[in-house]
Amino acid sequence: MDGKNLIAGEWLAGPESFVSTPATGEPVSYCKGTPELVDRACEAAEEAFWSFGYSSRDARADFLDRIADEIEARGAEITRIGTAETGLPEARLDGERGRTTGQLRLFAEHIRKGDYLDLRHDPALPDRQPLPRPDLQMVQRPVGPVAVFGASNFPLAFSTAGGDTAAALAAGCPVVVKGHPGHPGTGALVAEAVDAARRSCGLHPGVFSFVHDGGNAVGGALVRHPRIKAVGFTGSLRGGRALFDLCAARDEPIPFFGELGSVNPMFLLPGALSARGTEVAKGWAASLTMGAGQFCTNPGLVLLPAGPEAEAFIAAVAAALSEVPHQTMLTEGIAQAFNHGCQKMSETKGVSALVSSAAEPRAAGPHLLCVSQSDFSANPALAHEVFGPLGLVVVINDTDSYAQIARSLDGQLTATVFMESSDAALATELLPVLERKAGRVLFNGFPTGVEVADSMVHGGPYPASTNFGATSVGTLSIRRFLRPVCYQNMPEALDLMK
Ligand code: NAP
Repeated sequence: MDGKNLIAGEWLAGPESFVSTPATGEPVSYCKGTPELVDRACEAAEEAFWSFGYSSRDARADFLDRIADEIEARGAEITRIGTAETGLPEARLDGERGRTTGQLRLFAEHIRKGDYLDLRHDPALPDRQPLPRPDLQMVQRPVGPVAVFGASNFPLAFSTAGGDTAAALAAGCPVVVKGHPGHPGTGALVAEAVDAARRSCGLHPGVFSFVHDGGNAVGGALVRHPRIKAVGFTGSLRGGRALFDLCAARDEPIPFFGELGSVNPMFLLPGALSARGTEVAKGWAASLTMGAGQFCTNPGLVLLPAGPEAEAFIAAVAAALSEVPHQTMLTEGIAQAFNHGCQKMSETKGVSALVSSAAEPRAAGPHLLCVSQSDFSANPALAHEVFGPLGLVVVINDTDSYAQIARSLDGQLTATVFMESSDAALATELLPVLERKAGRVLFNGFPTGVEVADSMVHGGPYPASTNFGATSVGTLSIRRFLRPVCYQNMPEALDLMK
C-alpha cells in the first residue's frame, strides 16, 4: 500500500504527503488525497454501479461476509496500527473489530432475507369504475455511488468498512471513502481488506475506493462530485454542517446523512434519586469517562431536583470521578478542543467546577460542573457538546422543570430517564417531549453502547443528525441508500429486480 490511495483497485500516489500523528510509535508518511483522485474514484464507482447495482442479493451478501473474513484475517495488525494511531486500548480495538465484522454479517443476512426491498403490489383492477386501476409494483432500488466520511473516535465501526459502508454496499451502492487523518494506517489496512474481498468475489474495481485526507478540498470535491448520489457522514457538527451545506448547494442537491454530536441528557426523577442515587452516580461517572468520554452518546448532562439527595448525588459523582486517571485522547486537536471547552464552560456565570484537572497536550481528566436551572437557561451554550469526559449537573427548582428544560434542548441522539414506579406520572408527562427531541429514549441505563440490531435508532432531530428520518446503526440504516421505484403495468416478460 505504501501510504497510497486505493482508487478502483490500484494503489496510487499523489503529489503531496502528510505525516500521521500516532499516540505511540513513529509517525508515518501518507500520500494526500486530491480532487483528481476523487474524480477517478467517483467515475469508476459510476461505472461499477451498472453491474454492482444490479447484482443479486446473494452476490452482495457473499461480498459482505468476505469483507468480514478479510478484516478478521488482518485482526492483529489492525489492532496494532489502530491502537498506536488513536491511543485507544487494545481490548477496545478488538471489540470494535468484532462489532464491525458483526454488522457486515448482519447486513449480509438482512439482504438475503429480502424484507428491506419492501415489495408492494397493487394488482390491476380492469373493471374498476369510473376508471380501471393499473397494475402497480414498488421496490427499493440503490441510489448510486455513495461517499462515506468516518469519525475519529470509531476507527473501525464508524469508518472505512463501518456501518455506512456496510449499508451502502448491501444496498448495491459503490462506495468512495474519505479517510480520516486521525487513523490513516488503520483506514488503509481496512481498505486493503475490502479490496481483497472485492477481488475474490470478482466484482468491478470501482465498487470501493479509499482516498486519504487532503484537507477540506478533498472532502468538498467528493460531496460535490456529480456521480455521488448520497453521503454518509459521522463526525462533528461543524464539519457535518459544512458538508451538508455543500450537498444542498449542488446543482443536483443530494441527501447528506450526517450523524453528529449530542449531550445526551439524563433525567434523574425523584423516586430514583432517593432509591439509588449513589448507584446511579457511580454508573454515570463510569459511563462519562469510558474511552476518555469520546462517544457521541456520552451522557454529558444530568437534571435533578434541588435538596440534600441532590447534594449526596453530586458528592458521590465527584468522589468517583476523582479516582479516574487521565486518558490519552484521539488527537491533540481533540484534547485542545476539550480543554478549551471545559475552561469556557467553567467560566460561565453561575457554573461551579467540582472536579477539574490540568490540561495536557493529548490527554484529558474528568471534569464535573454544576449549575442552577436559571443560570443554565440563561446560557444556551451550556447545552452544547464538549467532546470528552465532561459532566454538567443542572439542579432544577421543581419537578415541572424537567419537561420545561427538555423542551428547550436541541435534538439529541439519546435521552435517558431514571425512574421508579412512583415516578410514573412525571415520566408520562416527560415522554412526549423526549420523543420529539431524541432518536433513542432509554430507561434506567446509560446510553454509551449502541446495539447493532433491527430496532436500533442512532440518529435524531438536528443537530444530532441532519436527517431525523434515518438511523446510522442497525438494519434500517440501509434505507438511506435506497429509493422507491414504482413499476406500472410491467409486462411479465420483464423481471422486477428483487
Ligand atoms: P470531524 O472533525 O467532523 O471529522 C470527520 C470527517 O469529516 C473527517 O474526515 C474530516 O476531515 C472531515 N471534515 C470535517 N470538516 C470538514 C470540512 N469542513 N470539509 C471537508 N471535510 C471535513 O469529527 P471527528 O473529530 O472525527 O469526530 C468527533 C465528533 O464526531 C464528535 O462531535 C462526536 O460526537 C461525533 N460522532 C458522532 C457519532 C454519531 O454516530 N452521531 C459517532 C461518532 C462520533 P478533516 O479532519 O481533514 O477535516
